[in-house]
Amino acid sequence: MSDNLQPETLALHTGIHRSQFHEHSEAMYLTSSFVFDSAAQAAARFSGSEPGNIYSRFTNPTVTAFEERLAVLEGAETCIATSSGMSAILACTMGLLSAGDHIVASQSLFGATVNLFNNILKKFNIDTTFVSATDVDAWRSAIRPNTKLFFMETPSNPLTEISDIAELARIARMAGAWLVVDNCFCTPILQKPLELGADIVIHSATKYLDGQGRVLGGAVLGKRELLMDGGVFGFLRTAGPTLSAFNAWVILKGLETLKIRVEAHSENALKMAQWLEKHSNVTRIFYPGLESHPQHDLAKRQQKSGGGIVSFEVKGGREAAWRVIDSTQLISITANLGDAKSTLTHPATTTHARISQEARDAAGITDGLLRIAVGLESVQDLQTDLARGLG
Ligand SMILES: *Cc1c(COP(=O)(O)O)cnc(C)c1O
Repeated sequence: MSDNLQPETLALHTGIHRSQFHEHSEAMYLTSSFVFDSAAQAAARFSGSEPGNIYSRFTNPTVTAFEERLAVLEGAETCIATSSGMSAILACTMGLLSAGDHIVASQSLFGATVNLFNNILKKFNIDTTFVSATDVDAWRSAIRPNTKLFFMETPSNPLTEISDIAELARIARMAGAWLVVDNCFCTPILQKPLELGADIVIHSATKYLDGQGRVLGGAVLGKRELLMDGGVFGFLRTAGPTLSAFNAWVILKGLETLKIRVEAHSENALKMAQWLEKHSNVTRIFYPGLESHPQHDLAKRQQKSGGGIVSFEVKGGREAAWRVIDSTQLISITANLGDAKSTLTHPATTTHARISQEARDAAGITDGLLRIAVGLESVQDLQTDLARGLG
């Protein structure tokens, strides 16, 4: 296909391998294994001298279609699909790192990622130093001779801090480390970390890539050499957290509408943020698309728009925040995000409840903080819904 196609076109026309039936929509290959014509062909497939499918823990045509489509959107040489976002991070770290290696990671990471680094990788003698997402000097100072990986998310959850991808990629490269960016919040529609110098992009496909809250999935993207020889694919193929054909198919179809969905989420979120910023019962607002955001200029440089997540602090602490949540009739009370339906969560008592009160206060995750993942409803209806408890 031509190199000049736009993302919305590529999302519809990449990864199509029609069967003998010439189906228009992509087929779903629900099979655990594949049949060989002969013993010699089986041997050739296993030795790798003949390309082709063997077993769905290794490869599956529906999963391959999803991988090709997402790779094109991220501008990556290779995409390896996984059963969830967490298994993408697990495969990336287990594939690339060995005992004795060191990670420098942003403090503002998804909770399960922090647990993985602190409690699981630590058992294998892989240490992590957590630093401020926005303090470039802190990243530089945390480097040790055995540092192999920089890991970050931008914008961060829930406070939408922006990390400078290009600058951190430069620092990582000088240290001989790889920069991994979890691009879940922006998706390739708003931000392309590989173009900015990152080595690897991680996705929780569970979020915007699916876009309707139906299935779990994940992906690791980057240079073929790094992912194949670096052991990421080998880890998955051996350990097993590969993406199922059914989930791959659902997300593959989700990608077809990714651009219009993400742009609509982002437009709605900006309108919600502008409205909340002026609301008399809102004390603080966190949204990179607002000029008042401390890193608005950096966000404008590396993201096409602010994205779909808005956090805000209400007057009156936990009680007031819970009142807003419990008064909604439309917005779902759930910690998930990236769904067409808006979701609302109270980080201090859910996603960040296991962190001590002092650490939460220091991080800015106060008792009055709420996070809304703005969906595709009418903004006016969402405002009416929030106003029930917000006043
Ligand atoms: C949800 C999420 C993950 C984990 O993804 P799962 O698909 O739930 O395993 C990782 N990073 C970010 C930023 C997320 O929001």
